[in-house]
Amino acid sequence: MMKGDVRRNLRQVLDSLPSQVKLVAVSKYHPAESILEAYEEGQRAFGESHVQELQAKHKELPEDIEWHFIGHLQTNKVKYVVPYVAMIDAVDSMRLLREINRQAEKHDRVVKVLLELHIAEEETKYGLSLDECRSLLADGEWRLLQHVKICGLMMMASFVDDMSQVRQEMLLAADFFDEVKAKYFADDDGFCERSWGMSHDYPVACECRSTMVRVGTSIFGARVY
Ligand SMILES: *Cc1c(COP(=O)(O)O)cnc(C)c1O
Repeated sequence: MMKGDVRRNLRQVLDSLPSQVKLVAVSKYHPAESILEAYEEGQRAFGESHVQELQAKHKELPEDIEWHFIGHLQTNKVKYVVPYVAMIDAVDSMRLLREINRQAEKHDRVVKVLLELHIAEEETKYGLSLDECRSLLADGEWRLLQHVKICGLMMMASFVDDMSQVRQEMLLAADFFDEVKAKYFADDDGFCERSWGMSHDYPVACECRSTMVRVGTSIFGARVY
């Protein structure tokens, strides 16, 4: 990547998004300079998935960056990100939700979260099945947690070339959003986010009612691990 590439790529992605779809620029494994290049173009929401890396970048980069923690967050690390994170995008257990609430209370904050669904056919340990998500909400304990705000759902579609499968999974998530919205959040305008779409499938996501895409590679180039 050359100086100027990030700026150009970012503009291209932004130009291709409908105005109501928010971009979270996924900057994991990319250096602070690249983030600054996007920042100077006006981008404020950035996504990271490793606690230590996020900590370092948060210290170094401008205060008004809106950090999204998009990876799997271990409960014992919640305390490190809760003081400043804008949103925790991938909550998949009541235990994690409770710990976020506990830490957020200490900092007198309300932390926004999304519930992560596992719909893709790929085997992964993370994400709630639709039934697990239904029982988490039916159980009702989340209503007592005054320092977390559930703002919507997130999911990753299967990583496949077959965009009809991707579409099917995203539409299933969108239908599930409607189900949950009607049942638990009908009077809550804050429950409004449907976060799906990454570099290879965000155009499809925009057609499948996504409100928040998480795009890394198309902006910052390939990650070097
Ligand atoms: C890395 C990551 C992304 C971005 O992936 P790209 O293919 O680089 O756009 C989006 N969401 C999550 C949860 C990720 O971990």
